[in-house]
Amino acid sequence: MYKSFVSIICALTLVAPAFAKPPNEKNMAAGQLNQDDLKQIIADLHEHIPVLASDEYGGRAPATRGEELTLAYLAGQFKAMGLEPGNGDSYLQQVPVTESITSPDTTLSVRGKDFEAQFSYGDEMIAFSEQQVAKTALTDSPMVFVGYGIVAPERDWNDYAGVDVRGKTVVILINDPGYASQDESLFNGNAMTWYGRWVYKYEEAARQGAAGALIIHETGAAAYGWDVVYSSWSRPQISLTASNLNADKSEVIGWLSQDSARALFAAAGLDYAKQVAAAARPGFRAVPMGDLTASITLDNTLRNSVSNNVIAVIPGSERPDESIIYTAHWDHLGTNPKVEGDNIYNGAVDNASGTAALLSLARLFSELPARPERSVAFLAVTAEESGLLGSRWYSENPLFPLETTVANINIDGMVVDGPMRDVVVVGYGNSELDDYLRTAVSRQKGRYVDREPHPERGGYYRSDHFNFARVGVPALYAESGEDSFDHGREWGAQQSQEYTAKRYHSPLDEYDPSWDLSGAGLDIMLYFDIGLQLSMESTFPNWSESNEFKAIRDASASARGK
Ligand SMILES: [Zn+2]
Repeated sequence: MYKSFVSIICALTLVAPAFAKPPNEKNMAAGQLNQDDLKQIIADLHEHIPVLASDEYGGRAPATRGEELTLAYLAGQFKAMGLEPGNGDSYLQQVPVTESITSPDTTLSVRGKDFEAQFSYGDEMIAFSEQQVAKTALTDSPMVFVGYGIVAPERDWNDYAGVDVRGKTVVILINDPGYASQDESLFNGNAMTWYGRWVYKYEEAARQGAAGALIIHETGAAAYGWDVVYSSWSRPQISLTASNLNADKSEVIGWLSQDSARALFAAAGLDYAKQVAAAARPGFRAVPMGDLTASITLDNTLRNSVSNNVIAVIPGSERPDESIIYTAHWDHLGTNPKVEGDNIYNGAVDNASGTAALLSLARLFSELPARPERSVAFLAVTAEESGLLGSRWYSENPLFPLETTVANINIDGMVVDGPMRDVVVVGYGNSELDDYLRTAVSRQKGRYVDREPHPERGGYYRSDHFNFARVGVPALYAESGEDSFDHGREWGAQQSQEYTAKRYHSPLDEYDPSWDLSGAGLDIMLYFDIGLQLSMESTFPNWSESNEFKAIRDASASARGK
């Protein structure tokens, strides 16, 4: 199916834009967008979002018919605009993935000398295996509370110090001690660090040899409710196909509800509140959970398939090896037959809106009087919702050299409530790209740059720019905040709360023709402005001095001799 699709794309003749080579100024002049441009951008969004978020696309899950429709739509649009394929003669980059469904017909049994309890799948716990095998199990695996489950040598913090968890089941708190204590001197205070993310916690537990890793859910610290845990993990999970079948991962990972966790601590003779408080203090040591052991068997149905990133490019006229890469994930959560009623996760905001923005940006660049000096690429990545997989695959198999990838600009979820004064940078202060943003924002009257309002949600680690950051490419993730031009900040915050509570990762994230997309349009103008500027320069923006990704970039810089 995919092969034939690829060949259709390849068989078609490409119409390259007939760019002459006038000077930069012409582009920069054309790049000063006006009201008519804004109107056209808004029209782009209203054209593309309802298609991508339609029921027909089924919520755009990777390796489904929704993917085929999405790829065809995006590649068709890029081609019609005269952009070149970004992967040789193809607009697609294959991403091998394994889909895994865990049978919900399972319970977690916890036993001690004087205790026995079963925790049911769904309401009381969620369990899954990252190992790509048909059956995984925990059998009488001793349980250990490891606090936040963090090993951070640079912060002199090790929750696994002095404890051997090989073959055991670790119970872990979500987020990090900085968030828990709101102590600015611990980790990043309220702002979530990489150590606060569940992805990290499962990775660390596996490195420690734990057979099981269960995270205790807490709505505030996780930044979402149990319903999101349930709906996210009960659907088929997708991971990059691993040659070792992920044998180095834990047998079982999962989540415990608050009630389940409290019951287990009580059974283990541990004071839950005291243990949680202790875990946020330096010097915490892991505690065995009495004589409790965990047992569970998971039946995993596996299916290998191929999903795809979509990539189109306007090759640079002077330095085509140097690139600016815009990203937006095209995928969303698909359709969940286990949910009654409307079970299509249309993902209109998340991220049909960002994907539509990518198309609008491609149009703006394609209409410039001259080719930019550097290449400008538009990368719609797959399987973001499954753990940023498409962007990770790209960062490990880049189509433009990473050392000369100038910047990544990521778009994930456009504002649909009209224009906002504030442009918030997720990961504010990380790189010199903030300066480019400030310059662009200064051209929009009444707007200003701010930090993200909820750094505790760990947004910087939760979208595709993070995979560029990890390999050293400065990455900008900035978007409208909550300070509404028309209705003020309180109203804006209300809209955003309502989105998080009711529509985020729910079947209610649907397109609404009455959306005011002018704020989204303004943001797209900023992304365009920044990319255009970068595409005409010969310098490379860097990370800030203290940033954890700077060393990787500096090594890249010496590789390119700059
Ligand atoms: Zn998203």
